[in-house]
Amino acid sequence: MLNNKVMLITGASRGIGRATALLAAANHAKVIVNYHVNDSAAGELVDLIKQDGGDAIAVQADVSNEDDIKRMFRTIRETYGHLDILVNNAGIMKNNLLIMTPTAEFDEVVATNCKGSFLCLQYAAKMMMRKRSGKIINLSSIVGVNGNSGQIVYSASKAFVIGMTKSAAKELGQFGISVNAVAPGIIDTDLNCIIKEEVLESLIQNNIAFKRLGTPEDVAKVIIFLSSSLGDYISGQVIGVDGCQVM
Ligand code: NAP
Repeated sequence: MLNNKVMLITGASRGIGRATALLAAANHAKVIVNYHVNDSAAGELVDLIKQDGGDAIAVQADVSNEDDIKRMFRTIRETYGHLDILVNNAGIMKNNLLIMTPTAEFDEVVATNCKGSFLCLQYAAKMMMRKRSGKIINLSSIVGVNGNSGQIVYSASKAFVIGMTKSAAKELGQFGISVNAVAPGIIDTDLNCIIKEEVLESLIQNNIAFKRLGTPEDVAKVIIFLSSSLGDYISGQVIGVDGCQVM
């Protein structure tokens, strides 16, 4: 489905990014596994993809740091010459009530989730505009659509991703580049390890029609669909992947 497409996945060492990297490689994409600090997880993932006959490299870069992003895109240009797909997935979550939120926490979340995804989008768009094609998938969240008590900064950062997606889709469509957002519900990854077991169980029973958490693979399948020619006429959309939690 993704034959020889060059695909950058930010935050691919764990969770949704890792599942997306594995599914992309199984569909014959050349995968750039970006990560922040987890060298061993990224290295193991690259080894796993290569053992199965796939093509992957790991690139360390903090997406909130523009010098790191420049270096990452230089590596992509030198290794592959171009970029076909960006999955803007790296993100962090901090939960706090409005009046309890320290400014440092606001700065940290905005640096990674907003500035990081914006800069990756900008650098990817410059590479893709030259060849007049490309697909960009940004990771938002259902709380970016609906808001959530206790998640004011995180949900606002994910709403930023939606506005960015829609504006970029309008600007880049003329260059043959689609830009979509995926809005997962509660997915079983490290990101949610701060949520208490009993709170998760109550959310599953009372809020999720499918009565289970999402898996990273549930989200990866939608990302691969949007990355492939199956999604060719879709842009500017926010696709929920939440087991019917929100509609
Ligand atoms: P996760 O399991 O916590 O993994 C986060 C990934 O992002 C890791 O690979 C991490 O790298 C990387 N990362 C974090 N900060 C980074 C930075 N500054 N620069 C580069 N990479 C960085 O997260 P996840 O649950 O898979 O979430 C992935 C995306 O989906 C996030 O944008 C998240 O907001 C969104 N999302 C998740 C859920 C959910 O329920 N899980 C729901 C809605 C939306 P290291 O391993 O090196 O630390």
